[in-house]
Amino acid sequence: MKTRSKEPFWLLKNGLIQTYPSLHQSLTCDVLIVGGGITGALMAWSLIGAGFDVVLIDRRDVATGSTAASTAMLQYEIDTALHQLIPMIGEENAVQAYQSCRKAIRTIEQLVEGLKSRSGFVRKNSLYMAAVQADEEFLRQEFETRRNHGFPVEWLDRKALRNRFGLAAVGAICSSDAAEIDAYRFAHDLHRASVRKGLRIFDHVEIVSLDYTNRGARVITGSQVMIDTRKIVYCTGYESQEMLPEKVVDLKSTFAIASEPFSNLPAELRSILLWDTQRPYLYLRTTDDNRVLVGGGDIPFNNAAIRDELIESKQEMLTDQVRQLFPDLPFIPDQAWAGTFGETKDGLPYIGEHPAFPNSYFALGFGGNGITFSVTAAELIRDRLLGKPAEELRLYRFGR
Ligand SMILES: Cc1cc2nc3c(=O)[nH]c(=O)nc-3n(C[C@H](O)[C@H](O)[C@H](O)COP(=O)(O)OP(=O)(O)OC[C@H]3O[C@@H](n4cnc5c(N)ncnc54)[C@H](O)[C@@H]3O)c2cc1C
Repeated sequence: MKTRSKEPFWLLKNGLIQTYPSLHQSLTCDVLIVGGGITGALMAWSLIGAGFDVVLIDRRDVATGSTAASTAMLQYEIDTALHQLIPMIGEENAVQAYQSCRKAIRTIEQLVEGLKSRSGFVRKNSLYMAAVQADEEFLRQEFETRRNHGFPVEWLDRKALRNRFGLAAVGAICSSDAAEIDAYRFAHDLHRASVRKGLRIFDHVEIVSLDYTNRGARVITGSQVMIDTRKIVYCTGYESQEMLPEKVVDLKSTFAIASEPFSNLPAELRSILLWDTQRPYLYLRTTDDNRVLVGGGDIPFNNAAIRDELIESKQEMLTDQVRQLFPDLPFIPDQAWAGTFGETKDGLPYIGEHPAFPNSYFALGFGGNGITFSVTAAELIRDRLLGKPAEELRLYRFGR
């Protein structure tokens, strides 16, 4: 499955940052990570830091899957609103899931600082905006719930939105804990740092057979090389659904555009990430080279060719939506691309063991918060491998 169209913004902006050797010799390791996107990169960094001997393989060039297509808004706000998640999984669990995403943003910030990564990490406010008058009540309920659970939120009414952001909307929740990043560059920075600490990465490696044994697993690759490992961690993104016996995710085709760079982008717009209550929702952020990135227009995923044929019409639709929202902004689309992402029944990821895959773990950050979920996955799976309690995994288990 092709998880994105040919020319996602970050790949054009950065080029192919780094490639790795392919695998021609059999080897052994403690942990084999399959998939080298942002999830595999965070996982590898976490496991190498914990002292494991780690090998990472990818069937493509690393970080060129969804990670290169991501608009990479970092929010603690899960696709399922907190006040809706509470009746689904209980108050304590729902708040814990939200808090974990909040903590993950801080973790990414510390990693960026520690690695001196130039991946454009910037702290921002997240504006969750009522698209139509009828959504105001839903949003106010969400605002009250978050405030009551200690999340730093502010309510902005129509006047405040117009005065502060030039936005034509009825109301919004403004959350201070949010950020943006270039996930593609960040994944490469993490890989490079992990390699310096002993990670072995091989790209263009296809698994052709896999045997689970009492002591781990034996993988045979397309070049007939063996990898003997104690554990496997699958960081295989949206393609993972093809491996799993049961359906855990609804795959969607999603679309994004980057504007031409602005010579003076309004400071207020630069200070926010924006998303709204429509289904599918419209979302928007700026970049460090003064563009506006806009995403939305999701439809059920059928196949990559059908998805990619829609790029032009979705570009027009998203452009119209931005122009309506910011009538004074001279928005000119420069580049459009498509990707695939997935929604789960509760908006939470799938992380942990699966009964059909012994000695293995999955780190599947499905949903709009994919990147923050990947941070959580890297920490919880590391703890599980170290034999430490990783209680939170109960929230993200298969079969829930
Ligand atoms: C347009 C778009 C916008 C998005 N916006 C946001 C956002 O604003 N914020 C956010 O948090 N998330 C967002 N997401 C989601 C986010 O991009 C993903 O959660 C994240 O990139 C997933 O990273 P990953 O490493 O798990 O998957 P990927 O980046 O897809 O990496 C998986 C890797 O596994 C490899 N692989 C798969 N199967 C195998 C196999 N069998 N053998 C070997 N290798 C294999 C692939 O080649 C790939 O390199 C967005 C996604 C899209 C498409």
